[in-house]
Amino acid sequence: MSRYFITTPIYYVKDAPHVGHAYSTVNADALARWHRLVGDDVFFLTGTDEHGQKVARAAEEQGMAPLEWTDQLSPRFAEAWAGLDIANDDFIRTTEPRHRVAVQQFLSRINDNGYIYKDTYRGLYCVPCERYYAADELLPGGFCPDHRIPLEELEEENYFFKLSEFQQPLIDWYAAHPGAVVPEPKRNEALSFIKGGLHDISITRTSIDWGVRVPWDDAHVFYVWYDALINYVTAIGYGQDQERFDEWWPSVHHLIGKEIIRFHCVWWPAMCMAAGIDPPAHVQVHGWLLLGGDKMSNSSVNRISPAELTEEYGVDPVRYHLLRDVPLGSDGEFSAEGISARYNADLANNLGNLLSRVTTVVGSKCDGVGPAPDPDSRLAGVAADVLAETTAAWDAGAPHLALESTWRLIHETNAELETAEPWKAEPGPAVDAVLGSALEVLRLVAVLVVPAMPSTAREIWRRIGLSGAPADQRLPAAGVWGGYPGGLAVEKGAPLFPRRKD
Ligand SMILES: [Zn+2]
Repeated sequence: MSRYFITTPIYYVKDAPHVGHAYSTVNADALARWHRLVGDDVFFLTGTDEHGQKVARAAEEQGMAPLEWTDQLSPRFAEAWAGLDIANDDFIRTTEPRHRVAVQQFLSRINDNGYIYKDTYRGLYCVPCERYYAADELLPGGFCPDHRIPLEELEEENYFFKLSEFQQPLIDWYAAHPGAVVPEPKRNEALSFIKGGLHDISITRTSIDWGVRVPWDDAHVFYVWYDALINYVTAIGYGQDQERFDEWWPSVHHLIGKEIIRFHCVWWPAMCMAAGIDPPAHVQVHGWLLLGGDKMSNSSVNRISPAELTEEYGVDPVRYHLLRDVPLGSDGEFSAEGISARYNADLANNLGNLLSRVTTVVGSKCDGVGPAPDPDSRLAGVAADVLAETTAAWDAGAPHLALESTWRLIHETNAELETAEPWKAEPGPAVDAVLGSALEVLRLVAVLVVPAMPSTAREIWRRIGLSGAPADQRLPAAGVWGGYPGGLAVEKGAPLFPRRKD
């Protein structure tokens, strides 16, 4: 059995969960669910990033202690993910004791290995960004390029990480691991940043308190980003359960947005090397959701809550849209019109229609008892191709292609039914063969859509009379044509996806 460890970024607790976060999380969940289907031992991690000056200041404005405040904020993410049917195995908060222990051990190791030193740092600091800027990064007039505000001049004693010593090791590592960062343009972006020269970076602060204390000098706390990145190893037992850590590391899959490439593809692998562990095996970089259409034109992605969307469209249609319409790796348009169009085309007219017509005709021609599939059906060949394509697409981290392929099977089956017209024929072996094969397709589709639409998969499974759950099936065995046994009571229920009129 192989292991599959997948992570989302940990989300900054001060933000409200929005559809951009949902995009990362739904993709990670779908990948995790796919790997469970193929029998892998899966560990799916998400969580919240809770330290830093912004959090401390905001808590102070609320008249609260920082932890008291983050205790109120972090559950919003857990609730948002429950509302999207996200099945994460762990939810890490960087304020947990297990994380403090791991951060202190990880950075002590780097210190012991000689990659940390103390120096005075002077620079222009942006509080909202929580970072210093070099003069050539600023807008004219010395303003923050993101916030367009004047920066604060700060001088402090800092500990520095010798990132500069890892330029060549990183270049060598990228050469030896050509598929480690995908897609390739993002890999090239990280690599050219590395080749452009790496400077040592400040990793602690004395000006703030809200963070993990430096174990060898408690006037300092670690900078929020250094603490945050280490969450990925905390959750698998770094510094606390060596055996567990060795089982899961380094074969991790970090799913990240393109705005945090440098952290994950430059700093984090260098930090791992400095701590004497292998860099993460795989980083998949995704693009941004761009808001399109008219209905949402006055909003912005980070104002749209996942709950608003699932209330309007349903959980599975939102998951499906995010996976199907915004390919991982590129930016993609997200709009109310897009969700509706995809819903009607793929869910109402194709999948929902297939289930509805098959269960209806089984009711009228077979007394509601589903016949067994035809072993020689043309659809058996289509199903075999689709299983191979779908598997390849999930393995390549391309959910949109996996779903496109699955929908080809649905589409071909609808076309086959339109040709055979079993609703017009006399009951008998010919009708049984056509309907049995269509039921077999529904069985296969229920398994193949588990990653994208887990509750839809269960409902199809139930209506065609199967017991157990599609998520408990194991591919590729469950993908072999002929698994629908026949002789099961088939239920014609309400439309799974009533057509939308907007
Ligand atoms: Zn800024």
